[in-house]
Amino acid sequence: MLALAARRLYLGERVPGLDMTVPTAPVRFVADVMLGRLARWLRILGYDTLYSPTLDDPELARIARLEDRILLTADVELARRRGLRVILVSDDRIEAQLRAVSRELRLSVHEAFSRCINCNTTLVELDREEARPLVPPYVFATQTRFRRCPRCGKVFWRGTHWARMRAALESGDFGGENG
Ligand SMILES: [Zn+2]
Repeated sequence: MLALAARRLYLGERVPGLDMTVPTAPVRFVADVMLGRLARWLRILGYDTLYSPTLDDPELARIARLEDRILLTADVELARRRGLRVILVSDDRIEAQLRAVSRELRLSVHEAFSRCINCNTTLVELDREEARPLVPPYVFATQTRFRRCPRCGKVFWRGTHWARMRAALESGDFGGENG
């Protein structure tokens, strides 16, 4: 059991924080059509979150089962389907939605800035000089680290969403005291 847990951690995409107490595979999500904004916020936090407005209920359920993803849904009927790990998110407000997820799972900001907000792809480091033509001059002057999505090409730096997300997490009761 311990060996398996250690191997999983070793093989994981990144090393979790030292306070991590549950060494299991990373939590992953698939979000229904109503929860696009929540999906983006979970990606900001670093969680692998599938979202597409074209996925219908049977597809969402199939993906959740097949890929062992937690289904996030505002749909009570969908949430009742058997064999799914589901978090029912019934509130329209993003703060309440994050709180609903956080009640079930302790959300953290350990892996923030690791995943593309647009397409969920793991970001790669971008050399600062490579970033220069891709970002506004002010951003280049004030930021030292950049990452890029290898799929859609979007460039990220912590200033973009980091400060806003940190502030929301710290003011809200989302359980994100680390990072
Ligand atoms: Zn992308």
